[in-house]
Amino acid sequence: MTFPEYDVVIIGSGPAGATTARILAGNGFQTLLVDKRQELGAPIQCSGAVSRHALEETGVPISTEYIQEAIYGFGIYNQEGRANFIDYRKLKPDEYGSEAGKKPLGFVVDRRRFDRFLLTQAERAGAETWLKTEGLGYSLLPNGKCEVRLRRFNEEIKVKARVLIGADGLQSQVGRWAGLRTHIKITELASCLQFVVDRVETDGLLEIITGHDWAPGGYAWVFPKGHGYAEIGLGVIPTLTDKNAQWHLDRFLKDSFFKDRFSDSRILEIQGGGVPLASPLRTQYADNLILVGDAARHVNPITGGGIHTALSGGIIAGKFLSQFLLSGEEPSKENLKGYQDAWLEKLGNKMWKLYEEKTAIFKLNDKAERDQKLFETMSSYFHPESEYKKI
Ligand SMILES: Cc1cc2nc3c(=O)[nH]c(=O)nc-3n(C[C@H](O)[C@H](O)[C@H](O)COP(=O)(O)OP(=O)(O)OC[C@H]3O[C@@H](n4cnc5c(N)ncnc54)[C@H](O)[C@@H]3O)c2cc1C
Repeated sequence: MTFPEYDVVIIGSGPAGATTARILAGNGFQTLLVDKRQELGAPIQCSGAVSRHALEETGVPISTEYIQEAIYGFGIYNQEGRANFIDYRKLKPDEYGSEAGKKPLGFVVDRRRFDRFLLTQAERAGAETWLKTEGLGYSLLPNGKCEVRLRRFNEEIKVKARVLIGADGLQSQVGRWAGLRTHIKITELASCLQFVVDRVETDGLLEIITGHDWAPGGYAWVFPKGHGYAEIGLGVIPTLTDKNAQWHLDRFLKDSFFKDRFSDSRILEIQGGGVPLASPLRTQYADNLILVGDAARHVNPITGGGIHTALSGGIIAGKFLSQFLLSGEEPSKENLKGYQDAWLEKLGNKMWKLYEEKTAIFKLNDKAERDQKLFETMSSYFHPESEYKKI
């Protein structure tokens, strides 16, 4: 029996997988992109905040097809409600704003439409795309290639590839198939919950509320969602509280300094998920295999944001493999280490530094000191002069 053969098979069509597929297919490689979902991005497990710079840098056309609201800056609050506003409409009024000739700083995107948009981009670049197709496992073949087992609808099939890419998100199985250490400590996995609500006013800012009392180990947020809606959510580290995220979110809605602002709110949707506030994986490659995006913990450990880093990781992986596959070298783990080296140089070393900063904050025993440090770090992170603002 002959199996379909590809240069690359990618498991997972989120921002990381779809971007990797777009680059590889665009460079002429036989690329298969699969996702187990029948509707990408659904159910939504993301607030969808992403900078304009992230989209431009990674070649994603800015489109009303997926944008829900334009963003012009940040409001960072401490536990008592004192705020640092970083509003680019005021800081750089000639550049940022909603008027003609000016631009937004970023967007809140609809992940269902955004992920479909990215898949379409990959497909138009030449990738073959299969939805409702789950990756089940892979094994090495004697000829230097690998065999990937998939379940497409209800049928089990095998395909061959030179390289398998795990872009299968936080719960990644692909790394485990290769025996990589993908375990995430419970002390570094934020449990997140958000409500999409009506009747809460917003003003084009991503509002971030720090303080152990509201969100132990994480922060709360209020994001504009377009059409007069907002997202109100938070992430907590379960080992720092004996209550769950829902209890904390209810309390934030009812008891925080925003309680009057929220008093008339109506919940339209409830969304949740886990966010790793962890270090990147120390090893993101194995024989015939690399990991990208959340699967490799390419998540900003201070903000929990992972869209930009998934898109950037996809570009780095796509470019590295495009060169590598042309070289004709065997995709052994020794040879694929070059991917991680390229990633560390372009992005990863900065992410490691952020991880160290985050760890230093949460090591502080004094709660007030920890809260103050998180508030200051968040405020400086989003400042126009921040060394990290491009992550
Ligand atoms: C509540 C919440 C809010 C967030 N808000 C933001 C935000 O505002 N901004 C931001 O930048 N980040 C945010 N994030 C993080 C962001 O959602 C992720 O970092 C980002 O989606 C990672 O992209 P990815 O492509 O690596 O993985 P994912 O987007 O998780 O995509 C992985 C894909 O793999 C598929 N898959 C998994 N296993 C298999 C398998 N075995 N076979 C086939 N397919 C498989 C899944 O169906 C999925 O489509 C948030 C996360 C949460 C939980």
